Amino acid sequence: MRITPQRKEILSILNKASQPLSAEMIYDRLPKDSLNLSTVYRSLELFFTEGLLSKSFMNHTAYFYSNHKDHHHYMICVHCQKMYEIDCHIHDMADDLANQHHFKITHHDMTVYGYCQACQEALNM
Ligand SMILES: [Zn+2]
Ligand SMILES: [Zn+2]
Repeated sequence: MRITPQRKEILSILNKASQPLSAEMIYDRLPKDSLNLSTVYRSLELFFTEGLLSKSFMNHTAYFYSNHKDHHHYMICVHCQKMYEIDCHIHDMADDLANQHHFKITHHDMTVYGYCQACQEALNM
């Protein structure tokens, strides 16, 4: 894959981000006139396929985050959309499954959805 300066910029934005970002959010943070939105989309999907990024969906929007930081996942409140970074607990399981099925894993994704404590209280859950 050719890493153009613009693509590097996308990766560095995600490396510095404390939360997953959508293509639109990344586009807003790029220098003006560097890339158009559809190029940002294409680059993100490519990085995801290459295993450089993880992807989670929220309200039908894809959010991306870097795999270069400590590997981690997210727990997302479906009501207020607050995101919590969580540790990965599926590496061993994934390795076992890969051995069983002679599967070569490139990457994995896992997102936990639910209601945060504040929303549970606000909604009388
Ligand atoms: Zn919440
Ligand atoms: Zn993981």
